[in-house]
Amino acid sequence: MTASDDHYPYPVAHLGIIGGGQLGRMLVAAAKRIGCTCTVLDPYPNSPAGQLSGQQIVGTYHDPVALRELVSACDVTTFDIEDIDTDALGALAAAGHRIYPCPGLLADIQDKLRQKQVLAQAGIPSADFAPIDRPDAAGFAAFGYPLVQKARRGGYDGRGVQVMRSAADFDQHLPVPSLLERFVPARLELAVMVARGQDGATVAYPPVEMCMRPAENILDILLAPARVDAETAAEACRLAVDTVEALAGVGIFGIEMFLTEPGELLVNEVAPRTHNSGHYTIEACVTDQFEQHLRAIAGLPLGVTDLLRPAAMLNLLGEPGFRGRPVICGLRAALAIPGVSVHLYGKAETRTHRKMGHVTVLDADIEQAQAKAEHVRAVLSIAGEDPSA
Ligand code: ADP
Repeated sequence: MTASDDHYPYPVAHLGIIGGGQLGRMLVAAAKRIGCTCTVLDPYPNSPAGQLSGQQIVGTYHDPVALRELVSACDVTTFDIEDIDTDALGALAAAGHRIYPCPGLLADIQDKLRQKQVLAQAGIPSADFAPIDRPDAAGFAAFGYPLVQKARRGGYDGRGVQVMRSAADFDQHLPVPSLLERFVPARLELAVMVARGQDGATVAYPPVEMCMRPAENILDILLAPARVDAETAAEACRLAVDTVEALAGVGIFGIEMFLTEPGELLVNEVAPRTHNSGHYTIEACVTDQFEQHLRAIAGLPLGVTDLLRPAAMLNLLGEPGFRGRPVICGLRAALAIPGVSVHLYGKAETRTHRKMGHVTVLDADIEQAQAKAEHVRAVLSIAGEDPSA
């Protein structure tokens, strides 16, 4: 049977996932629901995604043999992380294996400088920037403060990003090839998830508001929908779709952007995968981001993105001072709050600020959802069996 007959053998598809973290885990859950099976590639046995899929290849994302084994076993392969050997992956795609988003696009995004250049060439508005190969005080001063230094490679969750207000902050610089970016005094940070199918069809989710923890540059609470006027929301969706079209991406993408005081929208960065800012879609939207990604990469029709109910989302980060097996403190108190869903990722070990789970709160009123999320933060925490050094 072929897909063009609209008859599918069961399982509908065998999906390969490079990376066995929480994003992969939630993708496996969505894939199973829609009749797909999954194999996960991750260096650690019994990874969060591997636990759910039941099928894991233990290997690194830079091991061409492991990557080949995965894509050869699967109908279509995707990823939940960005730190992958894109040369090896590109060679497998060139040999006819279906890999989405395509490895060339991932290579562009992996390097924050290349990503900015590609977006700038496509006319996507973003903060002014300049490359700096060997960070030095004179180069930073010439660019001008306040600035944001971003490591070209390997950063995530705020690691690899340094906000510098003045020359006095230069001693906190990262000694790696970087780009310097104009500091944007943002009124709000927004994110829009966009899915694009193999046929070029696109759908966008409503813009959400990301409240960051300034000390760590990491997401604190997310609000869906963002508290912006309808015109700004529509403009943010248009910009996000333009961005994914400029990249000719297939799959789901998280487009992070700044809304400035005068109302300008600037793209901050693109995640070529499901995104932390889209976790709320599991409970709050008609089609969640994970199923949407699967639909896009498997050549299935894209789903409706409507928000059914306002939502607030909170990451559950490992409490500082603990490591070892996680201990969930306050689970009963959190679940007693109406509208709360708790997700735990099945990570064997906690560490300071490691993403161990998240909580979504639904409420007819967004301010109420936010207040409940703050209540959850006060009662629920992830400690560990051992003290950390
Ligand atoms: P990561 O990939 O680690 O998430 P980001 O580029 O998204 O890195 O930066 C993390 C956070 O740092 C952003 O969400 C924002 O709060 C802050 N930030 C990044 N770039 C700028 C900028 N140009 N101006 C102001 N704040 C910024």
